[in-house]
Amino acid sequence: MELPSRLLENAVDEISQLPGIGKRTALRLALHLLRQPENQTLLLSSALEKMRKEIQYCKQCHNISDSETCKICESNTRNKSIICVVEDVRDVMAIEGTGSFKGVYHVLGGKINPIEGIGPSQLNISSLVAKVSKGDISEVIFALSSTMEGDTTNFYIYKQLKEYSVLTSTIARGISIGDELEYADEVTLGRSLMHRIPFEQSIKQV
Ligand SMILES: [Zn+2]
Repeated sequence: MELPSRLLENAVDEISQLPGIGKRTALRLALHLLRQPENQTLLLSSALEKMRKEIQYCKQCHNISDSETCKICESNTRNKSIICVVEDVRDVMAIEGTGSFKGVYHVLGGKINPIEGIGPSQLNISSLVAKVSKGDISEVIFALSSTMEGDTTNFYIYKQLKEYSVLTSTIARGISIGDELEYADEVTLGRSLMHRIPFEQSIKQV
């Protein structure tokens, strides 16, 4: 499609880089941004710029944060000795939505996936092991989705933690295999956290 402006074309190219947005939708969005008051469009671009430049990753748990340490890690009402291990920040949001977890999190930033070339060293695993090795952690709960990659990741971390005196558990599988945590409803997710089982028991079931 021939566009009448190079500037419009650049904007359409950038917008169409977003997931699920084709060229046609990108053009529709770009024209919408052009039609609305200039100030409105600038608010959007500055919000994006500020988010990209200023957002940090919590130095304790790797959750998204506006400061060095996230609100959850900073809160003195949370039990810092119970760590829930999740794949990404969307899982933190999903579990927080249940209101039933009062420990803290550890965000791995993905799952071990040899096909996509993601190994343990690319994930935030060593910082979790370092935390546990200090001896202040009583329980590590694995809350990864029950896919093959999730199971591989759980097992890898479990082996890393085995030498320390820490309880390892996994969320009960009310969630069917392959479901992603963020799509699980809050009641189911809350229940599976509450009815978690020792990790060793979960691998014997397989
Ligand atoms: Zn944190």
